[in-house]
Amino acid sequence: MDQTLLEPATSAAAALVRGDLVGLPTETVYGLGADATNAEAVAKIFAAKGRPHFNPLISHVASLEAAEALGVFSPLARKLAEAFWPGPLSLVVPRQPDCIVCDLACAGLDTIALRVPAHPLMQHVLRAFGKPVAAPSANVSGRPSPTIAAHVREEFGDKLALVLDGGPSAVGLESAVVAVSGDQATLLRLGGLSREALEAVAGPLLSPDASAKAAPASPGMVLRHYAPRAPVRLNASSAEATEVMIAFGPGYEGAEFNLSPSGDLTEAAAQLFAMLRAADALNPTAIVITPIPETGLGEAIADRLARAAERSC
Ligand code: AMP
Ligand code: MG
Repeated sequence: MDQTLLEPATSAAAALVRGDLVGLPTETVYGLGADATNAEAVAKIFAAKGRPHFNPLISHVASLEAAEALGVFSPLARKLAEAFWPGPLSLVVPRQPDCIVCDLACAGLDTIALRVPAHPLMQHVLRAFGKPVAAPSANVSGRPSPTIAAHVREEFGDKLALVLDGGPSAVGLESAVVAVSGDQATLLRLGGLSREALEAVAGPLLSPDASAKAAPASPGMVLRHYAPRAPVRLNASSAEATEVMIAFGPGYEGAEFNLSPSGDLTEAAAQLFAMLRAADALNPTAIVITPIPETGLGEAIADRLARAAERSC
């Protein structure tokens, strides 16, 4: 333990425990971190970044052992982790059945992206916090990824409880993302590791297109979104007896589910994936959703629901 890193790491861990957002240094780029197990905290990431859709986030942990509590590692996944962790590689693997990372951080998928970062300050934060940290790059959607702490402060100002300064990011590129399903590895995103370096360990990597053709039904090989089995009807005002309603806002006392009775979009985002699953589990003839304003996080919620409605037709 480096004593000079202990104090900032402890403050960051305390902010994460409170459900606040924290700017965190990693060797790839600076991350916008939140407690990955707290859906409300993760919803704040999407709100702060202004992302128009929910994409799955990378969960950061201190060690391979911690990662194995969240994801299922095949021998090939373990080989890649042992070769490149800690470092700029994110591995997408099936979620453990009892994975504590919230549905929103995984965009409702049954796979999870995991990384063990090398930056010493980030390592101290992860060890002090003791739980996974969801952290996409700390920039507003559509802007370049920040590689120094000052850029993070410029980007988010007082939306962040704290920005830890770990100096300039050594790699300066996002992590490479590799999905591993059994003995097949697919390169989803190039980043801080070359294809050659990865293939020296994993053998030839599939491209997302090739792996989709080879195994169209295998989840996690490509980015497949969770779609409910039941048809989804949007902008509804009432539900039939065989249908299940997911409401938003006040005035829906009879609804089985309400994303946020007070009409709070951050709370609604935090509940969205879990409520879709719970509604679907009741085997209704349809899931009906009441109108949701398309401002702020409402845009990403609408995008997700529109996909669910399309899939189910
Ligand atoms: P970021 O957290 O913004 O650095 O980006 C995360 C990257 O990992 C994006 O390219 C995601 O699409 C990808 N990713 C994260 N989780 C998954 C997953 N479960 N399946 C496929 N891709 C994922
Ligand atoms: Mg990014």
